[in-house]
Amino acid sequence: MKVKTRTYQNLINGEWVSPQSGELKESVNPSDNRDIVGYVPVSTKSDVDDAVQAAKQAFQTWRKLPGTARGEYLRKAADILEQRVDDIAETLTREMGKTLIEAKAETLRGVDILRYYVSEGIRSIGEVIPSGDSEALLFTSRVPVGVVGLITPWNFPVAIPVHKIAPALVYGNTVVIKSAFETTITAIKVMECFKDAGLPDGVLNLVSGRGSTIGNALCDHPDIKAISFTGSNDVGKLIALKAVQRGAKFQLEMGGKNPVIVTEHADLDLAAEMTVNGSMKSAGQKCTATSRAIIVKEVYEPFREKIIQKIKNITVGNALQTGSYMGPVSSLTQFNSVQEAIKKGVKEGARLVLGGNTVKNPKLAYGYYIEPTLFDEVESSMSIAQEEIFGPVLALIKVENLEEALQVANDVKYGLSASIFTNHLDEVFQYMNEVEAGMIRVNGETTGLEIHAPFGGIKDSSTQARELGRAAMEFFTSIKTITIKS
Ligand code: NAP
Repeated sequence: MKVKTRTYQNLINGEWVSPQSGELKESVNPSDNRDIVGYVPVSTKSDVDDAVQAAKQAFQTWRKLPGTARGEYLRKAADILEQRVDDIAETLTREMGKTLIEAKAETLRGVDILRYYVSEGIRSIGEVIPSGDSEALLFTSRVPVGVVGLITPWNFPVAIPVHKIAPALVYGNTVVIKSAFETTITAIKVMECFKDAGLPDGVLNLVSGRGSTIGNALCDHPDIKAISFTGSNDVGKLIALKAVQRGAKFQLEMGGKNPVIVTEHADLDLAAEMTVNGSMKSAGQKCTATSRAIIVKEVYEPFREKIIQKIKNITVGNALQTGSYMGPVSSLTQFNSVQEAIKKGVKEGARLVLGGNTVKNPKLAYGYYIEPTLFDEVESSMSIAQEEIFGPVLALIKVENLEEALQVANDVKYGLSASIFTNHLDEVFQYMNEVEAGMIRVNGETTGLEIHAPFGGIKDSSTQARELGRAAMEFFTSIKTITIKS
């Protein structure tokens, strides 16, 4: 019996509604593009207007609810998300192509994030400040910003929406989210958890569609008081301009060109394992993925050999199948863009050591698979060492010493994540003080995060308002400084 492919709808004012255009787009499995995951709405500005209107109305009551009560909705949503982890992880894998193990871990991260923010509802949101006037009480309080617009990418279609939605809601804002078009069904299944948790109508709304249409409409809407965006630098810059022009708050988490530095004091086995995991898991499509390994000359050859052996052992396969270490890249667009970057690397004179091609296995002929790719003899000025590729591509760069390694590490516009592998304390301190990145690791992967700690980058990778942990309060609230005299 053939199963009918499901059609999905927008969530507006607590109802599942079709887009006013009536238009739908298919969501395709990048592991096998004959597999249609479902059909999603192609919405227009008028759908955004309806969603913002619903969120504006809901804000009037939601903001007055105690933080504890708001947190309880998150707790229920977390429980439902946990119950549905297998279904949601499978949808994520089918829409985006990361392996089931990674998809499940991401969904469970969503559960943890929601549970963390439940308790934000009972933590202090202000401070008492000693007043110069002995008869006055001086203190600060934090209030919600209003209706917030969330724009999210396809590479973490559960975790990133959740890590924006949870603090937005618990601090009293209402939300309109436009998640990445490619992974809309995954986001809709996360929204179903909130709806089934009984969240009041209009508090959380999702509009599915193209960034150029509804993302734009969200950024331009006068009732959207803050925009939290994760995605590419090009789109981030457009959003920043729009937000500044109309005085809306904005928060941008963008790309990276994340280095690992390997010194002569490194545990080379550990360094090789972490470098390969950091660059190849999720087919290199993490903002914190390792894309450059900067190695001091004394250990360049043995480290390179270990990397080659590990990459040769990688199993590329359908992301739904157990045993696949790495699935496809997420779409045809992504496939073409990674292939283009590899060609550019070859043209610029870097040496292609491994990969660089599509995967030859005939069973994978219908997917967007790229071989794990390794370049050496890479110069820092080459585009493969400067531009974010967002694919399974690693560049090896040889340097004289730690000083040069740090210069090379910092010689890019980005500053998201960086690692060093060394067991020498002086090197750790020098690196920690001089490396230009927001997330700094010693003897660990460039990827990964702890949900209760601030997350974000510097330079062109982020604006300064951090995400996750208590840091999220800064963006999703405004401060009132209050003086009371009897
Ligand atoms: P993207 O092309 O910038 O898209 C991100 C989101 O913006 C999508 O929802 C997209 O909609 C929307 N959008 C596109 N054009 C828009 C416009 N003119 N106005 C408003 N919204 C618009 O990025 P992506 O390809 O999805 O994600 C990959 C990028 O995200 C990489 O650069 C990666 O490093 C970055 N990233 C950063 C972090 C971090 O925390 N720093 C985390 C994850 C990913 P459509 O889906 O319809 O295009």
